[in-house]
Amino acid sequence: MKENLLISGGTLIDGTGSEPIPNHHIFISNGEIVALGENADKKANEFCKEEGIALEELVEINAEGKSVMPGLIDSHLHCSFDDVQSNDELFFHRDPIMVALVASQNLKKILRSGVTSFVDPDTAHGIGPALRDAINANVIEGPRMKTGVQALLTAVGGTAGRLIPDDGTVGYAQVVNSKDEIVKWTRRHIKYGADWIKIHATGSIPGKPGELLVWNREELRAACETAHELSIPVMAHCRGAESVRVCAEEGVDLILHASFMDEQGLEAVLENGTSICPTFTFLANLADFGGKVGASPGMEDIFRGEIEETAKMIRKAYDNGVRIVSGSESGFALTPYGHWHARELQVFVEVLGLSAVEAIETATKNGAWVMQMDDQLGTLEVGRLADLLIVDGDPINDISVLNDKAKIESIISKGKRVNTEESWPEHNSIPGWKVGNWAGEILTWDKAYD
Ligand SMILES: [Zn+2]
Repeated sequence: MKENLLISGGTLIDGTGSEPIPNHHIFISNGEIVALGENADKKANEFCKEEGIALEELVEINAEGKSVMPGLIDSHLHCSFDDVQSNDELFFHRDPIMVALVASQNLKKILRSGVTSFVDPDTAHGIGPALRDAINANVIEGPRMKTGVQALLTAVGGTAGRLIPDDGTVGYAQVVNSKDEIVKWTRRHIKYGADWIKIHATGSIPGKPGELLVWNREELRAACETAHELSIPVMAHCRGAESVRVCAEEGVDLILHASFMDEQGLEAVLENGTSICPTFTFLANLADFGGKVGASPGMEDIFRGEIEETAKMIRKAYDNGVRIVSGSESGFALTPYGHWHARELQVFVEVLGLSAVEAIETATKNGAWVMQMDDQLGTLEVGRLADLLIVDGDPINDISVLNDKAKIESIISKGKRVNTEESWPEHNSIPGWKVGNWAGEILTWDKAYD
């Protein structure tokens, strides 16, 4: 059941990049924003009379002293990974039915943290479209979802090295070995309901630092042309300068990471109208808190360096009008669901130097483009779908408040208040789900008798 909601007195941050407006009113009915501004309360009364809605059915929410803003859109989130700790676990310890059941619980966490829409590039066992359809059909509760099926990888692999087979499918990966296979699997994923095609453009190669482009131009072009012929956009994981440039030139619509983008890469991005989802959150969490969760020592500096070097070029891209979107890469142990979805905005403010209003736009208006719903979502305007947050705080003064679930007072998703009273959804251990380590350290003789 949709609700009739009148939210009064809050400071409106509308998601368009405009300055906040104090003492604002919003009237919501039938899942849409019906009226905004000073007269919204009057319009609410008129509307109820016209539509035969009893005034008792109008829920009035006093938002005085609070901020009212669009629900967050997380443009890079893996809802089927269940806060995974290793590639081994992700690729070889996950039964497909259990993956779907566990994801349905995690979707609630995502929604409960103020994310009312998200985009999932690739899903374990390709379950993304089924999850999305289950949400849309009201079988399970979750934010609005757009999704890829699996990531397309060449036999070189991605970041999981030789865990990726020479051909076939494993976990979130579909290996493609020729132009024909690329065309075939792009079409198949679209047949299975992909909203996006995901290419894993870079991968790790033994003995070589960082990640390298592991697709050739012809292969990239084949994926992009096939997807575009069927009106489906393409995103690519690019953690290397060359990959950003080549992917933008060959037609990729959204670059994930864009690590170490150089001047030529930026030129290609500008020329081709490519958008970027930097996804600093994973790196920032590792750099700032990796030691607290036992991440390999030495990684902190590497990741901090990657953020700093990439940020300079992302800022330049932003200043030149490139669409920058916010993605948290939630789904890993370092970025668990429900905790870090707004950290990217904080990094955008601190490292890119965006204002809070500009940062919020990356997770609202710009995110709506990744959802392919830019005429329906992302801003608080009359006629838009009613996904919004009431925040007990001022994100303009302190953007980090958006990470604090205790401060996200109300979440309105699809025109209805989300129940935040229930206890936080969490599961106990699942047989065979996690990889057990024999030991966290090597037991040398010296260590034993130290
Ligand atoms: Zn990712």
